[in-house]
Amino acid sequence: SLPSAAAAMVSAEVGIDYVLWTEAEVSARVGEVAAELAADLRALPEPAVVVGVATGAFLFLADLVRRVDVRLAVDFVRVESYGAGTESSGKPRITADLKVDVAGKHVVVVEDIVDTGNTLSHLIAHLEKKGASSISVCTFLDKPARRKVSVQLVGDGKFYRGFECPDYFVVGYGLDYAELYRNLPYVGVLKPEMYKKDSSN
Ligand code: 5GP
Ligand code: MG
Ligand code: MG
Repeated sequence: SLPSAAAAMVSAEVGIDYVLWTEAEVSARVGEVAAELAADLRALPEPAVVVGVATGAFLFLADLVRRVDVRLAVDFVRVESYGAGTESSGKPRITADLKVDVAGKHVVVVEDIVDTGNTLSHLIAHLEKKGASSISVCTFLDKPARRKVSVQLVGDGKFYRGFECPDYFVVGYGLDYAELYRNLPYVGVLKPEMYKKDSSN
């Protein structure tokens, strides 16, 4: 279902065609996911390590962990597989690794979106090799229609997600097109003419 004209109008100036989830809807849903995650992390015998996938997860992670009232560690990894386009190369690489030691720890991978699943399965294998005792995934968006590799959680790991995303290329709330639009507090779809446009404002 497409959003209201009113929601679309707020974004006209940055080139958004329509808004899928408004700032208020994002905030409410992140609160629900945080409550679920907090309950599970509170039951663990020791602090979990929350691993954000840079750059896309930065807003979601920040909004999520401040609502999880439990002791935990936060770190980031960088995994790259996309160029400047809208299609994954399918060959992800870890281009910046963790600082925190995850051996024997419960890890929660925080992602902006799970699309084909390539990025996540590569990262999970990497964290498993480092000795994580369990691996959960908390993704803001999930596009199950595009999955090529199923997400293999480790140990008692759980899968948390904010919203199921329809098969559109979406931007905002951390998600970029050519590194732009990450700062939008809502999630939307770009006007077709915004693709491959120059980087002027
Ligand atoms: P996957 O490896 O699961 O195919 O893709 C994961 C990564 O691709 C995400 O972390 C994200 O960076 C990028 N991606 C996938 N779908 C979208 C989308 O609809 N919009 C944006 N901006 N990035 C996407
Ligand atoms: Mg990502
Ligand atoms: Mg990207």
